[in-house]
Amino acid sequence: MKSCIKTNKLLILLFFATTFLGPSFLEAKEPASASISFRIGHNIWSDDAHFNQLLELFDKYPNVTDEFTFFTQGTHAPITDEELERRCLHLKKRIAETHAHGYRAGINILCTIGQHPEDLPHSIGPEFPRAQTIDGTIAQATLCPNNDMFRKRIRRIYKAIADAGPDYIWIDDDVRTGHMLDSSGTPGSLCYCDNCMKILAQKFDKEITREYLKENFDAPETLAKIREFTSDSYNQLFSLIEETVHQVNPDLPIGFMTGERYDEGYDFARWAKTLAGPNGDREVYWRPGGGFYDQSSMSALFGKSHEIGRQVSLLPPEITVIQSEIENFPYQLLMKSANVTTLEAVSHIAVGCTGAAFNVLTGNNEPLDEYEDMVATIAERRPFFDLAVQKLGRKPNIGVFPLWEKEDGNFPNRTPVQALTSCFSEIGIPIAYTFHEDTNVVLLSRAYLSHKTPEEAKNIFQRGVYTDLDAVNLANDPATYKLNDLTGMEYGGEIRVDGIEKIEEHPLNGAFANRTRDLRQSFWREPIYSLRKTRPNVETLSSCIDYGGNQTAETIVGIYENSLGGRICINGYYPWSNFYSYSKQSQIRAIIRWLSKDRLPGYVDSFAKINFWLREPGPDGSFAGIAINSNYDAVREVAIMLKTDSDFIDVYDYNCQKTTISSSYSDKDGYRRFIISEIKPWEPVLIVCK
Ligand SMILES: [Zn+2]
Repeated sequence: MKSCIKTNKLLILLFFATTFLGPSFLEAKEPASASISFRIGHNIWSDDAHFNQLLELFDKYPNVTDEFTFFTQGTHAPITDEELERRCLHLKKRIAETHAHGYRAGINILCTIGQHPEDLPHSIGPEFPRAQTIDGTIAQATLCPNNDMFRKRIRRIYKAIADAGPDYIWIDDDVRTGHMLDSSGTPGSLCYCDNCMKILAQKFDKEITREYLKENFDAPETLAKIREFTSDSYNQLFSLIEETVHQVNPDLPIGFMTGERYDEGYDFARWAKTLAGPNGDREVYWRPGGGFYDQSSMSALFGKSHEIGRQVSLLPPEITVIQSEIENFPYQLLMKSANVTTLEAVSHIAVGCTGAAFNVLTGNNEPLDEYEDMVATIAERRPFFDLAVQKLGRKPNIGVFPLWEKEDGNFPNRTPVQALTSCFSEIGIPIAYTFHEDTNVVLLSRAYLSHKTPEEAKNIFQRGVYTDLDAVNLANDPATYKLNDLTGMEYGGEIRVDGIEKIEEHPLNGAFANRTRDLRQSFWREPIYSLRKTRPNVETLSSCIDYGGNQTAETIVGIYENSLGGRICINGYYPWSNFYSYSKQSQIRAIIRWLSKDRLPGYVDSFAKINFWLREPGPDGSFAGIAINSNYDAVREVAIMLKTDSDFIDVYDYNCQKTTISSSYSDKDGYRRFIISEIKPWEPVLIVCK
């Protein structure tokens, strides 16, 4: 794709950066290869026989990992300070042995505040204040982080960890909310003990009780203040950890593992800055994660990737070690195959990670040679991880933006961004995790719109907007937004039974006119909305018919270009799911391209289930992306449309075999078509356009 303005800006930036900061600053921003780590359980490293098996196994596959990250423990309640110090002394020896085999070695503290009540008899004593739920229940395995005893403990254990001489330290995602639910089912936030309630009260500027919070839990003001309290608590904790660790070794990188948790504040940039020390120059690692522990639902793999993509989008650019969490907990080998485990790493690299942390080895007493196939498969794919990271680097994903923001956590009806995202991604439309000016297309939900000011709402409708009638009803609301002029359509009735979508004659529908899509309302009882046109230039893409073929609604999918130049598509028929027929897939792709005014950077143009991601062009205009065949059938003659002046692309298969493909066709709007001969089932290809 050509984006001359952006390229020029980047060239100017490049000039200033090389002039004033020196070339090493820039080089540090784009990793040369993937950062791969294996996380090693306490059960493995604490036992001489198992640890030797580990080194023997990995010595057979010398390039599979760069480093071993040793867990301090295998259970999820904090252990005593004395026991942790004893383990750190043991780890000091393990780190030296690991170094002797040519690997870096780090320590991953599993319980800074603690997680779940496991092995309580061997965990920290009752004298440490525990976190409390909003109804006053004591969390047995989670410590309150806001008291002096806790802070004293943090200084002691993080000093012990740094003294062991690791190359880096990871704080796990036990530093999180949501470990517990109170009896009312209210999501557990960080802590509501008496002391934390006093801290919270300062934010409210008045006396507050747990009862008050419970009663007002749905109020944006309450949620915002709780998020602020949690974010502050983390920040103070990280400041203490940073100070403690860097007093021992000023160069020790500190990493933090996160998840998509809106009620924590999602303040990644703030916390990263704190972990980087007062001068902001200490290296910080990040490990974005999510739950995908077995392969029973493969769509959950890509769902996790989108969560990770959103997490990465909030990280400052100077963070270059971003290892996705790949976790096969509780480590039974048949839960997730080696092939799915490696594909997961690729999928998370596609959304922005620069590496992976494999937490896939045994948590039980069993010999490590049983895990050899897993290690061998990861070793086989390591060159692809490196190549992909080299080509994609830290450039942001570009494409269609399903609207979300970290402040969504302030609202009880939070944006269902995942539900908006998946189906578009699966049919080969590139997803962006921040707004992408060039593409200018957003996916809009009512929940997102509901917390926008009238001016903000109006601005949304200047863009390309794909949405549903729920959101449009709100946009048209005469009491609030009054955007009828910009939406062009309104509620025209509901069809509760027997509604079948009929694709109508229209240039965007091409050869698919008169095809139908029946999502069986008698099974999946979603109402179908008829759209009434309120402006003359609204065009119908789909109507509704019944089982007798009689029309029951003239328009259920309509498009409109408004006076601000915004292009709108409203879909009243299962708008966010089931785009898996040839006709619907083609219609949706054509709609998105039309909404973008032919600025969508690229898309898959074959009948296939292919998740597809593209990255912003570099200073030289080159760009890259990853396509993953997300189905059990091979796809042959895969057509990729790219907005580019280049006649050639390089396509790398999973074995890093490069094929240069010339464009088979270009259209008047600047798209070129490239045909990839085959993408095998559940395999990726890396696409590089120079
Ligand atoms: Zn507390």
